[in-house]
Amino acid sequence: MNPFTYVRAQDAGDALQRGGQPGAKYLGGGTNLVDLMRETIEHPVSLVDVTGLSCEIDERDDGSLLIGSATRNTALASHTAVRARYPVLARAITAGASAQIRNMATVGGNMLQRTRCAYFYDDEGSRCNKRSPGQGCDAVDGFNRYHAILGASASCVATHPSDMCVALAALGAVVHLRNARGERTLAFTDLHRLPEDHPEAETLLEPGELITAVELPALPFAARSTYRKVRDRSSYAFALVSVAAALELDGDTVKDVRIALGGVAHKPWRAWKAEDALRGKPASAEAFRAAAQAELAAAQPLRDNAFKVELAARAITAVLGELKEMQA
Ligand code: SF4
Repeated sequence: MNPFTYVRAQDAGDALQRGGQPGAKYLGGGTNLVDLMRETIEHPVSLVDVTGLSCEIDERDDGSLLIGSATRNTALASHTAVRARYPVLARAITAGASAQIRNMATVGGNMLQRTRCAYFYDDEGSRCNKRSPGQGCDAVDGFNRYHAILGASASCVATHPSDMCVALAALGAVVHLRNARGERTLAFTDLHRLPEDHPEAETLLEPGELITAVELPALPFAARSTYRKVRDRSSYAFALVSVAAALELDGDTVKDVRIALGGVAHKPWRAWKAEDALRGKPASAEAFRAAAQAELAAAQPLRDNAFKVELAARAITAVLGELKEMQA
């Protein structure tokens, strides 16, 4: 590990001033960043600890929730309003990592965790455009069972590792940001980038910009929502494919639906095509399957991960069927 300084930010202004310095990184729970520093993938000059800034969950009058970025994952997943009104989020968080890691990890840090592509971590033996831009990507023709089937590029086929973020994408969350010029918001689905020719640029955050909170808009039918994660072992494993979904029925017809996928792309993948294909259609297994196939028509599997296309179609169909049964 390289030498670095550590300071605990006193407030958001202090964090911004320090976080805007060259080589500075914000530190949340450290459950990914510290690993990356130990592996010498990340080598910040200074760490600005922002865990003392905002860890409140505000239930607002308009029915939305405003979640401070330093809120621990465990606190968010166990919050009464989250469990009752956004169960997909509680389930996604508890599907991730281990209890010990969830106790440490923050909401802001979870959003900014980096891919677990094994070639990304192998800085002595593998080429990786994300770690060393322009170097090449050994995953494209290598062992790529865990890699992307949607939205990838010849430069990078990595997947985003978060479960929580898949639920946030489905729920239409909004990210609250602060920078030297003031504050702004960003749709959560716009926070992360697809790799294109620059996989090293993972988000649309400006240098030194601080995530202060994430907002969950009021979405009454999200009370009927769930998360399913398909993985190689039943705990402490990243998703091969995951599905976050909420379903609103009008009789036997789909009135509204939210679907997002994990384990398939460089960012949490909002399944806009599947949603469009379902609204106004009968809530049947055939319609669920057709919607899934509409989304996955653009899939471009690699040598080792063609199975993910069918796995994702089946997972979407099964989750929507489960949500329909909940309302029967
Ligand atoms: Fe690096 Fe992306 Fe290729 Fe993995 S898939 S080796 S992260 S460039």
